[in-house]
Order: sequence, then C-alpha cells, then structure tokens
Amino acid sequence: MRVLVSGASIGGPALAYWLARFGYQPTVVEIAGRPREGGYAVDFRGSTHMAVLGRMGVLDDLRAVRTAGHPMTFVDRAGRPTLALPADFAGGDLEVTRADLSAVLRRHGEALGARYVYGDHLTGIEQDDEGVRVAFASGRHDRFDLVIGADGVHSGVRRLAFGPESAYVRHLGAYVAGWDVPDVWGGERRSLLYTEPGRMAGVGIGEGNAAAFFVFRSPELTYDRRDPGQQKRILRDAYAGMGWETGRLLAGLETATDLFFDSINRVDLPRWSAGRVALVGDAGYGATLGGMGTGTAVVGAYVLAHELRAADGDHRVAFAHYEELLRPYAERCQKGGDTTGRFFAPGSRLGITLRDKTLSIPAMMRWMMKAGESRTNNIDLPDYPFSRSDSASAVGTNQR
Ligand SMILES: Cc1cc2nc3c(=O)[nH]c(=O)nc-3n(C[C@H](O)[C@H](O)[C@H](O)COP(=O)(O)OP(=O)(O)OC[C@H]3O[C@@H](n4cnc5c(N)ncnc54)[C@H](O)[C@@H]3O)c2cc1C
Repeated sequence: MRVLVSGASIGGPALAYWLARFGYQPTVVEIAGRPREGGYAVDFRGSTHMAVLGRMGVLDDLRAVRTAGHPMTFVDRAGRPTLALPADFAGGDLEVTRADLSAVLRRHGEALGARYVYGDHLTGIEQDDEGVRVAFASGRHDRFDLVIGADGVHSGVRRLAFGPESAYVRHLGAYVAGWDVPDVWGGERRSLLYTEPGRMAGVGIGEGNAAAFFVFRSPELTYDRRDPGQQKRILRDAYAGMGWETGRLLAGLETATDLFFDSINRVDLPRWSAGRVALVGDAGYGATLGGMGTGTAVVGAYVLAHELRAADGDHRVAFAHYEELLRPYAERCQKGGDTTGRFFAPGSRLGITLRDKTLSIPAMMRWMMKAGESRTNNIDLPDYPFSRSDSASAVGTNQR
C-alpha cells in the first residue's frame, strides 16, 4: 500500500515511521527545500506521550538531544522579576527543539524504508475507487492508495480535499512571533518576558544564542503570510512605545531572516477524513500555541497507523476508528490554545498582576501544570497486539 504524507515536521515523520514499520510504503513530501534546523523547543508531558515515544523506540535518541529547559521569569519595566516559573512549566517531561525531534523521527522512519522528498508540494488531488491521483508543484504526477495531510495549521492537503482554510481555522485573538537575535544577555538558559496590557515581549536565552518571542492580542489582521516585510511592519506598530528591552529586540527584527509570525488559531473540522484523504496533527486538530500539539500529533500518528494496520488497510474502517478514539482527546488538548493569548498578554494591568500573583503561589502553579498533564493523559489507547513487542508502557489496556 502506497501512502503519501504531506509535511515532514512531527505528525508526518511519526506516521511515516509506523507505516514503514507495518510494511506500507510511505513517501513524505515537504514544501521546505531541506530539513529545518534549530528553531523553538517543543515539549512532551505525561505518561501517554512518553509511552508512545517509548513504543517507537526513539526515547534514547530524544534524550540525547533534549534541551536543558528554560525557566521563565516575567519581569517589570526595570527588569525586576515579578513571577518565576520552573523549566518544567514550559518544558514538561521532555523538551527538544522541533527540528531535532523531526530529525530523530525521520531517521527512525528512513531506517525502515520511509522515503522523503523535500522542496515539493501537492497542487492537485483526485480520488476514484482505486486510489488517489496527485499532482505536484514540480510537475510530477503519481498515484497513491491514501494521502495524509500532516502539513500543519495552514495545510495544503486540507485546502485541496476539504475546502478553504477560512471554513476550518478560527483566530483566537492573538498573534505570536519569533526570530533570532544576538545574545547580549549571556549566562544560563532562561526566558525573560515583559508584559504590558495586550502585549508581551520576551527573549529565550541559551548557549550563546537568543531568540525573541512575542505575543500580542489583536483582532484578525489581513496580511500576506509569505511577506516577512509586512509582518515586520505589523510587529513594529503593535510594539511601538513598549518598555524594557523591547526596542533592542525589535532592532534585531530588521535583519532577521528567520521570522516566524502567525495568528494563534485553532483548527476545527467536522470530519478528519474525506474518502482516501485524512489529516493528522495540527492540520486536523491544531491550536498554534498552548494546545500541546506536538504530543497530540505523535499520539494521532500512532493511532492512525495502528488503526490502518488493525483494519488491514481498509481506510474507511481505520479512519472512522481513528477519529472516534482521538477526537475527544485532541479537542481537550486543543482547548489550551484558547487561553494562550490571555496568559502571555493579559488585557489589563490588573490582569497582569493577577497572573503574576496567582502563579507565584506554588500550589496554584502546580495545579496548573497538573491540569495540563491530565489533559495529555486523558485517553485509553488500545493495546494493539501486533505492536506489543517493544513497549514498557503505562498506556491503557483497551483491547482491539
Ligand atoms: C512558537 C511556538 C512554540 C510551540 N511550543 C510548543 C510546545 O512547547 N509544545 C507543544 O506541544 N507544541 C508547541 N507548539 C506547537 C507545535 O509546534 C505543533 O503543534 C506541532 O509542530 C504540530 O506538528 P505537525 O507536524 O502537525 O505540524 P507542523 O509542525 O506545523 O508541520 C507542518 C509541516 O508541513 C510543511 N508544509 C506546510 N505546507 C505544506 C505543503 N503544502 N506541502 C508540504 N509540506 C507542507 C511545513 O513546512 C512543516 O514542515 C509551538 C508552536 C509555536 C509556533
């Protein structure tokens, strides 16, 4: 069975790994010209995430590249701490850069026969009873049995097979941006964050490099997602007159070539599959930031591949089981994204003070971390008999 997976970040490589392990022939096509490097850190938290990584056999490789975590300190205009959060608040049980995670998943999949093609993307999908005919931007055409969109919140597969993004992606009232800046702070790894009503300017510092991290509240803006010049102008306007180190961070924006800019949004579809096409990860159930989308993408890929194998490749049965099992879980995790904007950039001075005072109480901070973790554990994964061999996991025992 030939499966085309669009997107080589997290969900795509995780799915390709399992498909290759089960004897399918996965090809992953990635729009970027080559594997990404560096970038922001993502985290896994709770026993479900860790058990699925354990079953993939990637934990040792991930632990070898784990970051040391970033304790977060919120500061006032003069740089005095107002709230200190430990490294595991943002870093969970295991934190790695998205690029390192992607590379480890890819390597393990390639070893089993998964193929990767960089610098191309789908421009057409036509389904019939026998399979899917796809057209690539490079001019190539090919046929596959199934096509899976693992190409993120702004999925191209979703656009081609389900309809325009505006029908499925909801703006959650805030924007997030990041770019590398010269490290003039030095010292140990940490994040410093300064908040004024409706906007937060921050910097993550570590091992000789630093990256700006900004979140600001705003109604939906109209801009070209491929035009960094426009995005830089939006940022300069949104942060005009902001105190602390903001001016220095914005100065670094002028020459930044790696700007990340997006709305904080949430993907909601009534169905995650259409015929022989299905979605995994952020493309189907993402929330840009705060929705624990990395772990959900890995769990989603695990369930989708196992359901395909359990149904002996019958995609109708497999896609229905995948969605039935994962949807309540994914939606609960997604909810975290609803409050990300308000958390980083409360709308008033009172809101900022309340956040800082409340989370300075250790019991409140622990409660918030527990709440996040309990969402990530809130699924009873079937104990698929064909995949028992390499797991020392604590995941549920719902036989299928
Ligand atoms: C600043 C920031 C910090 C974050 N921190 C965390 C965190 O700490 N913990 C956490 O769990 N999550 C975090 N997230 C969210 C996390 O990054 C995503 O949930 C996760 O990467 C989803 O993986 P994915 O593979 O579904 O999609 P993505 O990672 O978005 O990958 C999609 C891939 O598809 C490619 N692509 C796009 N369009 C096409 C196309 N048309 N054809 C082919 N390829 C295409 C892209 O280049 C990309 O490689 C963070 C997000 C941001 C923005």
